[in-house]
Amino acid sequence: MEVLKKRILNEGVIASDQVLKLDGLLNHQVDPELTMEMGREFAARFREEKITRVVTVESSGIAVGFATALELGVPLVFARRKKTLLADPDALCERVPSFTKGIVTDIMLSRQFIHEQDRVLFIDDIIANGDAARGMVKIIQRSGAELVGFGVAVEKCFQAGARTIREQGIRVESLVKITSLADGKIEFAE
Ligand code: 5GP
Repeated sequence: MEVLKKRILNEGVIASDQVLKLDGLLNHQVDPELTMEMGREFAARFREEKITRVVTVESSGIAVGFATALELGVPLVFARRKKTLLADPDALCERVPSFTKGIVTDIMLSRQFIHEQDRVLFIDDIIANGDAARGMVKIIQRSGAELVGFGVAVEKCFQAGARTIREQGIRVESLVKITSLADGKIEFAE
């Protein structure tokens, strides 16, 4: 997606050769026009799949997940990062390490908002090692719903996350693929 590449080149800040800060577009400020364009692109790629629900993880997946859900005319459900250890019999939970925060968090999705008959599209902002995504995949699969695919705005190809999801036989669509952040330069895949 050329417009997203341009914005990343102009506004992305390379924090290290592993981490690209995208606070101006995805992780702190949201550009509604750009976000809607991302939603339209995901919706176009998955339009034929009869999606019934879009699922994401709070908080950075919500804007692009919302845009996609709006375009597809279906609800958006976001997994919550759980702060209490109170057992909830209605919740599907997974413990995942957080790439940027260096801590472990529990993500939770209520069975109220995902059902066996659902055809689910999972949307997220960035994939690195894939811990968050693998946690969500497990939750969706445990719900009995069908996971139709995973749409991610930014795939960092030099980390293993997206590959491990594809190896599970899940369709992964990324809007932009970054192959390297080395030497202070952002390199994109063709
Ligand atoms: P993963 O679980 O794939 O290792 O990391 C996924 C989450 O960590 C993403 O949803 C994103 O919020 C955050 N993250 C991972 N890598 C980066 C990065 O290079 N830049 C930013 N801004 N966030 C990242």
